[in-house]
Amino acid sequence: MAERITGHTELIGLMAYPIRHSSSPAMQNEAFAKLGYDYAYLAFEVDNDSLEDAITGLRALKMRGSNVSMPNKTVVHKYLDELSPAAKLCGAVNTIVNDNGHLTGHITDGIGYMQSLKDNNIDVIGKKMTIAGAGGAATAIEIQAALDGVKEMSIFNIKDKFWANAEETVKKIRENTDCIVNLYDLDDKEKLKEEIADSYLFAQATGVGMKPLEGQSVIPDISFFRPDLIVTDTVYAPRETALLKQAKEAGCKTMNGLGMMLFQGSAAFELWTGEPMPIEYMKEILDIKYE
Ligand code: NAD
Repeated sequence: MAERITGHTELIGLMAYPIRHSSSPAMQNEAFAKLGYDYAYLAFEVDNDSLEDAITGLRALKMRGSNVSMPNKTVVHKYLDELSPAAKLCGAVNTIVNDNGHLTGHITDGIGYMQSLKDNNIDVIGKKMTIAGAGGAATAIEIQAALDGVKEMSIFNIKDKFWANAEETVKKIRENTDCIVNLYDLDDKEKLKEEIADSYLFAQATGVGMKPLEGQSVIPDISFFRPDLIVTDTVYAPRETALLKQAKEAGCKTMNGLGMMLFQGSAAFELWTGEPMPIEYMKEILDIKYE
């Protein structure tokens, strides 16, 4: 008889819509199985309309916790008892931990990004970074980078519906950290070039580079880059975006979004189990290789 699921197995969920395409269930269950931990991780199609009932269910079923993705990340806090400092500052939650009925919301995307840098021997603490983006992924990275001690950050975004969010993020970083932060229009390419020129790292955290914007880059040409600049992209499908191709051509060290994906999952795993994922094993499974 199958031994993996028993009467003691604890349930962890993923609440989002759409969600059937997600690689998180395979990743989390692989890690539980590898370490022999008695948990099962399942994806549930939950949107804003069914979210409150789903959280009531999580409490009633005494689930250990859940991941939360779009469209629930920015609304689920209403149904929780406590938020981590980063989740409070980001205004978003991607991980819920249930401690005997007390639900705490965390955001692990930014932790995941910072951890993936560290794992790749990239040390941005005390240095300047330039980042493109003002959506969910970018905000989490910007807040965590500032909390972790990045000295200076130049944020660029186009003047779309995310611009106000970028202004809000700058305000929060200024009020809560010592990071020197400024916001610029991503269409101002002269300014972008200037800010990248004295940055240690350039981070791409917009949707540009993946479908439907695959093949496009926020950088006009490789004269924006120099060989000792580090260039990262949150996008991992495709694994090598047009931006990373440009960066490689300019001789930069590059990193795609797979590491961030792994480490945000590992940070959630650790919040539920007390231990990180078996990282080297997971890197093999996910075929993560640094260049
Ligand atoms: P979002 O919808 O919250 O934000 C979208 C961002 O893209 C905004 O900053 C917006 O202004 C910008 N944008 C959209 N169209 C643009 C254009 N034509 N030109 C310039 N900027 C444009 O999305 P998100 O959740 O923040 O995701 C952003 C990217 O990060 C996606 O590619 C996503 O796949 C990736 N991501 C990766 C991870 C990971 O673990 N590696 C996690 C979350 C998101």
